[in-house]
Amino acid sequence: MNLTDYNEIRALLARHKFRFSKSMGQNFLTAAWVPEDIAASAGLDEKTGVLEIGPGVGCLTRELSKRAGRVLCIELDKALKPILKETLSDCENVEILYANALKEDLAALARERLPGLRPVVCANLPYNITSPALTAIIEAGCFETVTVMIQREVARRICAGPGSADYGAFGIFVQWHMETELLFDVPPSCFVPQPKVTSSVIRLTRREQPPVAVSGEEAEEMMFRLVRAAFNQRRKTLVNAAASQIPGLDKERTERALTALGYDTRVRGEVLGVSDFVRLAEELRGTQNPDF
Ligand code: SAH
Repeated sequence: MNLTDYNEIRALLARHKFRFSKSMGQNFLTAAWVPEDIAASAGLDEKTGVLEIGPGVGCLTRELSKRAGRVLCIELDKALKPILKETLSDCENVEILYANALKEDLAALARERLPGLRPVVCANLPYNITSPALTAIIEAGCFETVTVMIQREVARRICAGPGSADYGAFGIFVQWHMETELLFDVPPSCFVPQPKVTSSVIRLTRREQPPVAVSGEEAEEMMFRLVRAAFNQRRKTLVNAAASQIPGLDKERTERALTALGYDTRVRGEVLGVSDFVRLAEELRGTQNPDF
């Protein structure tokens, strides 16, 4: 069976009386080159253990199964169970867990179900959970690479730098932990049903060290508080945004810290790079009161 052929998928789904669920972000691939290229971009070999979130009818799963040592899939929709049983019947290195990926301990699963293998993630993510799923994957701390298809708009935000309209707190969070690469775009015509937006495949690679040296956890936490404050209110100056959202931080201290670093006190957070936020957090820590 060709799992990316539109007519074959429709017939398979009809035979199992399957109905698409919008709330589960179900858009299945109907172009063979897409799962092939995603799997080929994920850097897999027999020593890799892949976590896939949302296998659908299993077209990407089959490509992963060919290339990796083991594949662990988490699928929310139990209605796909009889379908996947059929489509993956010959894939001996694939295991499927029917559960909500957002409620699972991904690090524990990788340890227990992909033992002795280099853990990576590769998936066509359900787009309604892109940010929480990526956050959970990154915070699990064990996945060396994450090759995923997501909405192009979110992909751009993840890869954006200062000065771009796409630059924001989520991108800074991802870039703090991972190197980011935008690989290729996939048009809506490659899916059934077709999503409204273009998709992009990105590859994230875990960094050994954060991109900028930081003097400790406190400074790192302060850095993220400043980042979140700045982008929650991106039209405000950094000083005003920080003062209104970080308890105990008054405007004068932030102004002094900015001046000490050579910035205008009216600067907006969106022009600061990650290293600027780190320098500011460290400068503020040097002058701080015990509230932080
Ligand atoms: N990989 C397939 C399907 C992608 S659609 C393909 O490329 O064709 C997204 C898939 O994620 C669907 O199968 C959907 O049921 C599943 N899904 C949605 N939310 C989920 C969640 N919270 N946990 C696990 N799987 C989920």
